[in-house]
Amino acid sequence: MPDTLTPPNIPTAPVTPAILDGLRAVVGDKGLILDEPGKEPFVRDWRGTLVGSAAVVVRPATTEEVSGVVKLCHEHGIAIVPQGGNTGLMGGATPWPTHSGIVLSLGRMNKVIEVDPVGYAMTVEAGCILQTLQETAAAHDRFFPLSLGAQGSCLIGGNLSTNAGGVQVLRYGNARNLVLGLEVVLPNGDIWNGLRSLKKDNTGYDLKHLFMGAEGTLGIITKAVLKLWPAPKDVATAWLAVRDPQAAIEILSEAHSASEDNVGSCELMSRAGVDMVMRHIPGVQDPLKADTPWFLLLEWSSSRPRTDGAEGMAEKMEQFLAEQFENGRVLDAVIAQNEAQARNMWVIRESVAPASRAEGPGLSYDVSVSTSRVPAFIEQGLKAVTDILPSIRPYPLGHIGDGNIHFSFMGPKGMDRETLRQYSPAITRAVNDLVRDMTGSISAEHGIGIEKIDELAHYRSKIELDTMRSIKRALDPKNIMNPGKILRL
Ligand code: FAD
Repeated sequence: MPDTLTPPNIPTAPVTPAILDGLRAVVGDKGLILDEPGKEPFVRDWRGTLVGSAAVVVRPATTEEVSGVVKLCHEHGIAIVPQGGNTGLMGGATPWPTHSGIVLSLGRMNKVIEVDPVGYAMTVEAGCILQTLQETAAAHDRFFPLSLGAQGSCLIGGNLSTNAGGVQVLRYGNARNLVLGLEVVLPNGDIWNGLRSLKKDNTGYDLKHLFMGAEGTLGIITKAVLKLWPAPKDVATAWLAVRDPQAAIEILSEAHSASEDNVGSCELMSRAGVDMVMRHIPGVQDPLKADTPWFLLLEWSSSRPRTDGAEGMAEKMEQFLAEQFENGRVLDAVIAQNEAQARNMWVIRESVAPASRAEGPGLSYDVSVSTSRVPAFIEQGLKAVTDILPSIRPYPLGHIGDGNIHFSFMGPKGMDRETLRQYSPAITRAVNDLVRDMTGSISAEHGIGIEKIDELAHYRSKIELDTMRSIKRALDPKNIMNPGKILRL
C-alpha cells in the first residue's frame, strides 16, 4: 500500500467457520478459494505494488448466488470486495491489508445471454471478458466500441464499475454511454432488475448511472444490456510524427470534417514512450524511424464498405495528411497498408503500460483538462515535475481527443522504488494543483480506488463529498460494499 495512506476504518467482522459453511451452501466448494496461493492473484493488484488480504475468495455462478452471498455478508457485517479481471490501476479491486471479509469474483458469470443485431443491443453477464464481447458483436456484423489495453483480461462488470474510457471515447463515449440497462445486487442482497433495452426512459432518477463509476462501493453489477453499432468496414490507420502537442490538437480539430465525422481514435505518444515499448515488447516495429519527440496514432473508420473507384478512408486521409504536411503540423507520416501494419501501430500504443511495468519504478497521473488546454498542461506540468526531480524521465501520452493525458514518468536511471517514493508527494501535489488550476480532473478514466482516496478528498468540494457520502450511506448503511474505496466515511 502507498506509504502516505493510512487504512480507513472498515468493518472487521471475521468469516467464522459457520459463515464459511453458509457461503459453501450458496456457491458450493467450486465457488470458494481458501488456500493462500489460490487467493494470491485476487489480493494483489495488476502492478504488483498493492497487496491486501481476504479470508476467502467467493466465485458465484449466478445472480441468485451473488445475492445469497451478499445477504449472508450483510447479515453478519462482513466486508465484500467485488472483483472483475483485477486490471484496475487504482487498487479498487484490491482488499486493504486490514480486510477480514471476502473478495467476490465475477469471473464465473461469463455468459452472453442475448445478441439483438436488429435492435443493436446485447445482454451479457458481468464476468464476460471485454474482448470476447467485441468478438461476439463482430460475429453478428456489429461493433462494441469499448477498447483498451487490458481488453483480453478485464471483465465488462469491471469496465462499467470504473466507467472505463479507452481509445474509442472520442466517438462513442465512456463505458456509461454504451449501456442501456443493468442488473445489480444491492448491499443488502436485493436484486435490482434494470435490464431494460430502452433508449428513452425518463422515469425518475436514472439508477444505472449510480452504479457505473462507483467502483463496487454501491452494489455488484451482475448483468448489462450493452449498445451495439454498425461494424466498421473501411478503416484507415496512420502513424504521424507531429511538430508538438499543439499541432496534434489542431490536426484532430480539422480531421473531424476532413473525415466526414469518421475520426475513431486519436492517441498522442512521445518518443520516450515508443522507445520504451521497443525495448521491452518483442516483435513490434517502429513505424517511422523519425527522430522527433511526438507521435499521433490517428484512425478513421466508416461503416460504409469501400466501393471500386470511390474515394475511401485511406484516400481521404492521404489528402488530409498532405495538407497537414504543407502547413508544418505533420513532419512525417505512414498510413497502414494492411491489417498487420495497423495492428502493429495499435500494439505500440497498447504496450506502453506493460513496457513501463518492465522498465522499473515510475509515477503516473491519469488526468484530464479541456482538449484545447492539453498543450499548456503538458508544458507547464513537465516544468513543474522536472523542477522537483530534474533527472525524472517523462513519457506523456494520452487520449488527447478527450483531453485525457496519462502524465507518466519513469524514475531516474538507477533510482530505486523507495527513493522515488520520497519525491512522490511533492510531484503529486504539483501535478494535481495544475490540474485544479486548469479546471481539470485528477482522475480521467481510472477512478479513485485506494490510490487517490486522499487526493479526491483534497480536491473535491465539501458539498460534493458530502453528497457522495449521503448516497453511500443510504444504499450501504453497514459500509460492507468495497469499504475504504473512493471515500473515507
Ligand atoms: P477490476 O480491476 O477487477 O475492478 C475495478 C473496480 O470495479 C474495483 O473497484 C472493483 O471492486 C469494481 N468491480 C469490478 N467488477 C465489479 C462488478 N461486477 N460490480 C461492481 N463492482 C465491480 N482503463 C481505462 O479506462 N482506459 C484504458 O485505456 C485502460 N487501459 C489499461 C491498460 C492496461 C494494460 C491495464 C492493465 C489497465 C488499463 N485500464 C484502462 C484500467 C482497467 O483495465 C480498467 O479500469 C478496467 O475497466 C477494469 O476492469 P476489471 O474487470 O479488471 O476490473
